[in-house]
Amino acid sequence: MIRKTIQQRLVLEAAQGMCHPSAEEIYQVVVRKHPNISRGTVYRNLHNLTASGMLGRVLIPNGAERFDTTTPPHYHAICKRCGAVQDAALPYQEQVQDAASTCDGFVLEKHDIIFWGICKECAQRAGQCEAHMDHVGEGPAD
Ligand SMILES: [Zn+2]
Ligand SMILES: [Zn+2]
Repeated sequence: MIRKTIQQRLVLEAAQGMCHPSAEEIYQVVVRKHPNISRGTVYRNLHNLTASGMLGRVLIPNGAERFDTTTPPHYHAICKRCGAVQDAALPYQEQVQDAASTCDGFVLEKHDIIFWGICKECAQRAGQCEAHMDHVGEGPAD
């Protein structure tokens, strides 16, 4: 049997090697090294890690939640094509929330902003297709 704290560390270490992974992606990495760990154990540890603030969570509309080893508040950019999640460069805007909290009696605790677009890999893939089309019919350059 693997002790509880060790399980938690394995799950956290797996998450740290990835960029905004889903619970399933983390499970796949953990189970490759430790075949005896169940999906339920990994998911339960992810829940505990987010509850204790050691892992952040990115809630994606119509998508599986992602986990985040960067825990201070920050914004995300999501690729419309492949669903890749990256940190946006925009610093967290405390003043946006301060301005919004003038709403009568409504205590605001946090806010999220998601930027949607096309990631570098998807943009390059599209570019490669076009470049390839231009060179169809040409022999190898010598
Ligand atoms: Zn993409
Ligand atoms: Zn992030």
